Amino acid sequence: MAYDFDLFVIGAGSGGVRAARFAAGFGAKVAVAESRYLGGTCVNVGCVPKKLLVYGAHVADELEQAAGFGWTLEEGHFDWGTLIANKNREIERLNGIYRNLLVNSGVTLLEGHARITGANEVELDGQRYSAEHILIATGGWPQVPDIPGKELAITSNEAFYLKDLPRRVLVVGGGYIAVEFAGIFQGLGADTTLLYRGDLFLRGFDGSVRTHLKEELEKRGLNLQFNADIQRIDKLDDGSLKATLKDGRELIADCVFYATGRRPMLDNLGLENTGVELDSRGFIRVDEQYQTTAPSILAIGDVIGRVQLTPVALAEGMAVARRLFKPEQYRPVDYQNIPTAVFSQPPIGTVGLTEEQALEAGHKVQIFESRFRAMKLTLTDIQEKTLMKLVVDAETDKVLGCHMVGPDAGEIIQGLGVALKAGATKLQFDETIGVHPTAAEEFVTMRTVTR
Ligand code: FAD
Ligand code: NDP
Repeated sequence: MAYDFDLFVIGAGSGGVRAARFAAGFGAKVAVAESRYLGGTCVNVGCVPKKLLVYGAHVADELEQAAGFGWTLEEGHFDWGTLIANKNREIERLNGIYRNLLVNSGVTLLEGHARITGANEVELDGQRYSAEHILIATGGWPQVPDIPGKELAITSNEAFYLKDLPRRVLVVGGGYIAVEFAGIFQGLGADTTLLYRGDLFLRGFDGSVRTHLKEELEKRGLNLQFNADIQRIDKLDDGSLKATLKDGRELIADCVFYATGRRPMLDNLGLENTGVELDSRGFIRVDEQYQTTAPSILAIGDVIGRVQLTPVALAEGMAVARRLFKPEQYRPVDYQNIPTAVFSQPPIGTVGLTEEQALEAGHKVQIFESRFRAMKLTLTDIQEKTLMKLVVDAETDKVLGCHMVGPDAGEIIQGLGVALKAGATKLQFDETIGVHPTAAEEFVTMRTVTR
């Protein structure tokens, strides 16, 4: 049977665009549908605008450090409206680049909401399209717990478009987004409190990293409230918000920002017309080749709920394009040793096993840990400490994990990701000549076992 398209991709985000472009490049006839914004979450309400706001907040650090280097500056003034307008302009530029990338690679771009109407059929704006393969790459959406007053809270989606910087912010959650936005709000001058329901935020990260970041954030004046959760939110007569905690405490703020995880975006997608099944957490169930339980339908990215990171969605998109249209180049995605950064202030960079994971996996571990004040701060009064940590298998000498909290951690960890992928040993780290004077050289000069 002749289909309109070889591949119909739903969602022009990180994974969908990658799969569509490469499939078209391999000679397939491809359509991609996008209902909201080209480039998806990462470009519009994720990685990119987030990083621009982090840069904005980081300027405060530079200003604070300037005096130590002999600079006398007039009192600074920050204007949220300017930052957001400039950020929006950059996002629009990127939207245009994504449009060109798709169109120039021969992909048919359909702007509208796509709904699957059969195993090989998608409907968009009243028109039906047939396709041999359908790829669901619809991403995720912020999830706010169902508490009274939840409609008064915002999520990352809205935070990027706030008209004004709120004076007092309550950030709820203890994952990537909560920690990053707490740093953004606080760095830009808002009185910021982070509320996390457990004992210590960033569950799943290395224990030393979690404790170190907690201490550094507290030094910066961020109000961290652990074992704290909101029971209800009420609007007061003066327009401010009152958050009543489960322990009875009441906190007043101008903005309550929820970052309590993301659900798969399956709204009105028509899955009931297919044999696609969900897993126990509600994400689309796929096999190791991204095949759903319906033979003609595949899924990648945040909607499958494996690792919700842009480079992972890109790798999955690439894998699908190759498997379908260039099988001789197909290689499965390697989910081991995925490097990642949390753009908190200071940021985290991490790759490989945490100390806790290594012990749980039965490794006999040697831990190398170093805490130091970065050279840049020695001419200032700032007492912030950088943490670097290596988790090493005592029997094989293999480096199992590298973890850092400190300036440029995200930049530094990328190279260490290559080393771990190559299976580097601690001896090879030791034999690598450092780049001097940098903070990064500490990773190749730690000689004393901490424990
Ligand atoms: P998405 O990029 O979400 O794309 C899905 C697209 O599908 C969207 O454009 C959506 O509009 C469209 N769509 C949905 N349903 C339909 C439909 N029925 N019809 C047509 N179109 C539809 N990751 C990192 O690696 N680094 C970071 O620094 C980082 N920061 C982040 C910060 C925030 C605030 C958030 C929210 C996420 C961040 N992420 C980061 C995660 C990253 O953005 C996601 O992992 C990535 O975007 C997932 O890509 P995707 O292709 O699965 O989905
Ligand atoms: P995460 O899953 O990282 O964190 C969710 C947080 O919310 C956890 O601390 C969780 O607590 C808490 N939580 C969940 N449900 C509730 C609830 N009902 N009440 C109170 N607290 C709750 O999600 P995020 O929203 O922060 O981010 C989504 C994903 O996006 C990330 O996991 C990451 O993959 C990606 N991302 C990546 C970034 C990067 O690469 N720099 C930046 C931003 C996002 P608990 O731990 O107790 O379950």
